[in-house]
Amino acid sequence: MSTRSGGTIGGTIARRHLVRILATLLLTGAVGAAAPAIDADRLLGHIKFLASDDMKGRADGSPELNRAADYIAQQFKEIGLNPGGDNGTWFEPFDLVAGLAVGARNSLVVSDRTRSVRLALGSTYYPLSTVPNESRDSPSAQMDKLPLVFAGFGLSAPQANYDDYAGLDVSGKAVIIFSHEPQESDPNSPLNGNRPMPESTLYRKAEIAHNRGARVLLAVSDPSHATDQGLFHAFDVLPDADEAGMPVLRVRRNEMQPLLDAWGLDALAIQISRDLRPRSRPLNAASVDYTEFLAHDRRPVRNVVGIMPGSDPSRAGEAIVIGAHYDHVGLGGRLSVTPERTGEIHNGADDNASGTASIIEIARAAMAERERFPRTLIFIAFAGEERGLLGSAHYVSAPAIAIANTVAMLNLDMVGRSRGAVDVSGLDVAALKSDLMAAAQVTGGIEIKQEGPGAGRSDDSSFLDAHVPAVNFFTGFHPDYHRPTDDWEKINKEGTARVAALALEFAARIAQDSGLKAQGSGGSRP
Ligand SMILES: [Zn+2]
Ligand SMILES: [Zn+2]
Repeated sequence: MSTRSGGTIGGTIARRHLVRILATLLLTGAVGAAAPAIDADRLLGHIKFLASDDMKGRADGSPELNRAADYIAQQFKEIGLNPGGDNGTWFEPFDLVAGLAVGARNSLVVSDRTRSVRLALGSTYYPLSTVPNESRDSPSAQMDKLPLVFAGFGLSAPQANYDDYAGLDVSGKAVIIFSHEPQESDPNSPLNGNRPMPESTLYRKAEIAHNRGARVLLAVSDPSHATDQGLFHAFDVLPDADEAGMPVLRVRRNEMQPLLDAWGLDALAIQISRDLRPRSRPLNAASVDYTEFLAHDRRPVRNVVGIMPGSDPSRAGEAIVIGAHYDHVGLGGRLSVTPERTGEIHNGADDNASGTASIIEIARAAMAERERFPRTLIFIAFAGEERGLLGSAHYVSAPAIAIANTVAMLNLDMVGRSRGAVDVSGLDVAALKSDLMAAAQVTGGIEIKQEGPGAGRSDDSSFLDAHVPAVNFFTGFHPDYHRPTDDWEKINKEGTARVAALALEFAARIAQDSGLKAQGSGGSRP
């Protein structure tokens, strides 16, 4: 289902590529040496398996992720790679936090002199942020009769001359705020018109409240937004939360309504929206009792590591890492773009069965022409990417070949939706850029768009942090990103094969490029 844009222009580009390819082949005398083949159907076969409903979205810490790891190891073995994991195995195990373990005695009560509202975890409140323990049997937070302060929309935006916290003391207290922002749909609003202010995300609001010493933040939907019940349900299905330094609790409007009415908070929100004058205030005799029993849910996961030793013994001590994460977000939850659909399988065909399948087929093609790779190739399927690039960070701390002897890292994350182009980051290293351009002339058929540093956050970042030149291949975001609809039927297999062929040819050039030096060689470090 490849889409070609613009017949005439497409034809011109194709012809120009053909001319270039011929020129390159003639110059290098390589005519007759078949271009390294990446079999698109074989590639799609891996994607179909990894992104099947059976794999339940390959969540970190799930049995299905383990099955995916076994599958990848089996492929590496059949291809003829050597095991590159711990103790002669294919695997490099490590533990990660895969969510929250929920204790039995969580409780939240909001009251004033005459009323008391008891909320229930998962159905009428859930934590957006927590400070978890290592055991769910001891309290991770305990607050009794904390005085409650209303802080409007929880915004502090000096550049827009608006501050819900001006003159308000929240230190050591509980704070209640509304979601969203005042004048939200007014195109002439000084608060960023009708576009959301960067300060209006709950993450930023939590940061502001935390910096001012608040101990717990309650967030209620503002009067113009209904609460999405699905979000409360999501915590029941997959307990998980950020760790923003203090508890941040989403509380359901329905249950809070009697208190909101008694305190006149909806009316205050409407007044604030009218004149942008903050109306924050302590709420007379109002208080919060909060007890939390939440712990880190630690689980084992595994990187899968396969090695193709370099063909030149004098250079085989230097490595090129070719990696892709194979974990995804499972049944959704906090990491989903649609957390209200938690419970549905997020198949992750593009993210990142596509990259995982690519490294398997790159390994197969490389093994068929080993003499082109004087340096060693290390193929790694990373776990824990979705939870913060944890697999690549772990590998960098315990590499198969020293990081100082790792010349470059190629990462493939979401390469299944190519429409004739691929975004590549990390090309600020001149030698890498020229190697890639040379590779593209040979493989052809794909346009390279250079991305700035830090364009995406994927496992290449862990290597960049360790001063290893690293590039990421990426064929673009789409409406199925981190949603249950990222399915294998939407993969462009030929486009994916082209990206993989490009990465393979690129790796061959890097493997031969004596202009690229490992940190450990040449003694150039001060
Ligand atoms: Zn990804
Ligand atoms: Zn992802």
